[in-house]
Amino acid sequence: MNSEDTITAVSTPPGRSGIGIVRLSGRDAIKIADKIFVSPGKKKIKQTSSHKILYGHIVNPLNKEVVDEVLVSVMKAPNTYTKDDIVEINCHGGMVPIRRVLELLLNAGAKLADPGEFTQRAFLNGRIDLAQAEAVLDVINSLTEQGQKTAMAQLRGGLSKKLETLREELIELTAFVEAYIDFPEEDIESLSLKDMKKKALIIRQSLKKLIDSSRYGLILREGLKTAIIGRPNVGKSSLLNALLEHDRAIVTEMPGTTRDVIEEYLNINGIPVKIMDTAGIREVKDIAEKEGVKRSLKAMEDADLVLLVLDGSSALHETDKELIDRSAAKNTIFVINKIDLPQKIDCNVGADLVPVPMKGNHKGSRYEKLGQARNDAAETLLKQKIVSISAKKETGIDELKNRIVETVLQGHTESNADVVTNIRHVHALEKALSSIESFIKAVIKKTSPEFLSVELRDALDAIGEIIGITTPEDILNKIFSNFCIGK
Ligand code: GDP
Repeated sequence: MNSEDTITAVSTPPGRSGIGIVRLSGRDAIKIADKIFVSPGKKKIKQTSSHKILYGHIVNPLNKEVVDEVLVSVMKAPNTYTKDDIVEINCHGGMVPIRRVLELLLNAGAKLADPGEFTQRAFLNGRIDLAQAEAVLDVINSLTEQGQKTAMAQLRGGLSKKLETLREELIELTAFVEAYIDFPEEDIESLSLKDMKKKALIIRQSLKKLIDSSRYGLILREGLKTAIIGRPNVGKSSLLNALLEHDRAIVTEMPGTTRDVIEEYLNINGIPVKIMDTAGIREVKDIAEKEGVKRSLKAMEDADLVLLVLDGSSALHETDKELIDRSAAKNTIFVINKIDLPQKIDCNVGADLVPVPMKGNHKGSRYEKLGQARNDAAETLLKQKIVSISAKKETGIDELKNRIVETVLQGHTESNADVVTNIRHVHALEKALSSIESFIKAVIKKTSPEFLSVELRDALDAIGEIIGITTPEDILNKIFSNFCIGK
């Protein structure tokens, strides 16, 4: 990438549409566009003031052929997306007109932009920081309205502001510590040590809060991976259909993979819920129970949440018990289905499902009936984790949805500010947290100021990585290569 180049790319998706946009950015953007644009009054783009739209034609300068009828948006530096001059040509949205306009721009001296290069320039020219640049992609890729709102808050600098404050606090603390390096004959006074520790504890608290928010934030961005499991015929596929009917499903095609890899999400109160192995749930009928269990266990492997479906109209099978046992380590909601039929497992029998501490003569069974072992923990679990539904009659579905949302929020209010949604940011924050914790320990041990300063500088670097101050080149390239061309 050469920042001297003027870059161009198609910014609208391929295919047929009313309008297609070809974008041009760089110091020669206006000069290049003027070579192929002719307005009826012969007015040049160069003579136009910024943020205006011109009507005219794209004309091949070699043979004067009129290629398309267009509107041209002119945005002059520095108040543009990239901070350089930008020209956007709105032409007809077919593959051919778009390609021909692009070719003429390339012939006139523009270079084809790399994926994300416009945004990369906005970052390199200092209009946005790295976290904001990543938020651009998150706005484009957002799965639900809630996710898009959070990404917009980040794009507008909400998270960056928070990180900037953290950096300022760290810089202040570093300066304080490093003052002692300059006067080696002086020991750090105990009053100062106390002060350093106090300041570091405040920073640690902010870091922890940000890391905590990512539990919700990552789900907003990536979706809650949910496995619907259970033995054959308990109603998994009926449940999936009931959930899909209630909510608009979001279907995304994974870029870069074969066409048939389609991911399906449910939008449950703004939370994208990604159902694992939807094809398996729908298509596999009349399979042997053993095979069903195998599939269930596989779907469970990667899941953040397990919906274990049991048929309330028949007594618990050994298979059910096995699945209950296996899902105990996972975040599980037990779904008792078919409550419209006479019940063999009612809610009390649901106590079969409650894990209790193993006692001497239970031969390894991790479950007891409520009647035999009534304890507070079991009761709470029972209340929280069992939802009775009829997938067929669509009763209890709202209750189930609420439970799903509760497991995600767990006390988190649905605000969009300061939510960390990106795993790269989480790792950097964890690095900063670990450095601050080492710093606090070192202060307690009255370690030398040189050592203390190293810990603080590591924490600073880690936060700098998020906003792009200290991010290594290869990571930067990787981040921008995930963008689409033309953004
Ligand atoms: P899966 O094999 O677990 O996916 O189960 P299905 O969803 O295919 O359901 C198996 C059978 O149970 C079908 O005949 C469904 O119509 C029936 N079924 C599913 N849910 C309910 C329910 O809530 N009530 C009743 N009465 N039948 C149900």
